[in-house]
Amino acid sequence: MQYISTRGDAPRLNFEEVVLTGLARDGGLYVPETWPQMSKDEIRGLAGKSYAEVAAQVLQPFLGDCISPTEFREMTEKAYGTFFHKAVVPLSQLGENEFLMELYHGPTLAFKDVALQLLGLLYDHLLGKQDKRVTIIGATSGDTGSAAIEACRGRDAVDIFILHPAGRVSDVQRRQMTTVLDSNVHNIAVEGDFDDCQAMVKAMFNDLEFRDRLSVSAVNSINWARVMAQIVYYFTTAVSLGGPDRPISYSVPSGNFGDIYAGYCAHKMGLPIDQLIVATNRNDILSRFFNTGEYRKTGVNPTVSPSMDIQVSSNFERFLFELCGRDGSAIKERMRQLDDEDGFAVNMSQMNEALFSAGNCSEQDTLSTIKSTLAESNKLIDPHTAIGLKVSEDCRSNSAVPMVCLSTAHPAKFPVAVEKAIGKYPELPAHLDDLFDRDEKFDQLQNDLGTVKSYITKRARILSSV
Ligand SMILES: *Cc1c(COP(=O)(O)O)cnc(C)c1O
Repeated sequence: MQYISTRGDAPRLNFEEVVLTGLARDGGLYVPETWPQMSKDEIRGLAGKSYAEVAAQVLQPFLGDCISPTEFREMTEKAYGTFFHKAVVPLSQLGENEFLMELYHGPTLAFKDVALQLLGLLYDHLLGKQDKRVTIIGATSGDTGSAAIEACRGRDAVDIFILHPAGRVSDVQRRQMTTVLDSNVHNIAVEGDFDDCQAMVKAMFNDLEFRDRLSVSAVNSINWARVMAQIVYYFTTAVSLGGPDRPISYSVPSGNFGDIYAGYCAHKMGLPIDQLIVATNRNDILSRFFNTGEYRKTGVNPTVSPSMDIQVSSNFERFLFELCGRDGSAIKERMRQLDDEDGFAVNMSQMNEALFSAGNCSEQDTLSTIKSTLAESNKLIDPHTAIGLKVSEDCRSNSAVPMVCLSTAHPAKFPVAVEKAIGKYPELPAHLDDLFDRDEKFDQLQNDLGTVKSYITKRARILSSV
């Protein structure tokens, strides 16, 4: 399997190179050159297998000969062995033909663990083979940072530096990052906001000399391996609800478009899907696009679902690439328009993807959906999940088709919003119930690129190894 860039001007790479590179040299994102196909018989054959077994089978074609099936099978076993539920991604039932896909049973309580637990092992394996090291640098407003730290802690080949805005992430989110005391984990509290953190990370990626010297790598969802790992749970849930012999619908709380794009990939591989519903909060660039064909930036508003407070969705470019007939030069032009003119429009006749529906959800509806779901189905959900549920009710076209809402975080991760909705604080699960007694380790730095760069340069072990 080879990978090509969405902008058509970067070298084709194999799986190993794509995982370690992240962004393509022409500014595009890597996608598989062809979609591996699974026949109905092969999909039926997934029934009754463990999550780790299904992951190994569904993902093997994406690896080419970079990792042997036996080695990869060991990796999926290990990655999903860290989850606090034997089913890894269990389904629960909310109503008639309505289900919740519980993606929050990993170490940091958000769906990002599903991909990052595997990515951490992929780094170890691929770097160990070459006797190399990487320096991971990322900015977080909450969930990505803790999931990435948890996936990389204690790994010999990796040093990880995560920037968060000082005083602007929730106590639970901060402590999930800062109570990890391994020596390869570095938390930086920046005296600024999330945009300041992200701008500094971007500047470090654009400083090619710095980037090469420290072998900087990315763990956000521009990394193909993250999207890839998310394809698996569309297959496991479909099979347990009667797929591939009946189509299933999915509603996905969306921000960077990584999670729902993975559903689209599953469909491209042969999984029958009736509807893919894009659910957004009032930062609704995605739902506006699917309803009007126009993709236009408007600025970010803070909401009670902060992990979806996103202005431009990085993975949307991968979808647009398919929509434009895999024409790299068309994507380049659209991305130029996005930078220079704040947006672009796609001819709706090009949008022959009847598969997608989209809608947004207000703050008020988010909170009332948390409340009504607890009252009607005795299930406490987080604000992101509530958005998926509410929009699925608005957009669902056929009630005979099972509707699966992706539940992307545990309610205890967003206690303030949950308390607002139901009048009491959600409890942390047992493995985190001493979170507030643990020691914290982080350094607070000025909002200054030079200061942050020299902090990282001093601590990244890559320099001493060359
Ligand atoms: C990251 C995140 C999302 C958004 O997922 P995308 O892949 O960026 O669309 C939704 N909910 C939660 C809880 C998240 O952490």
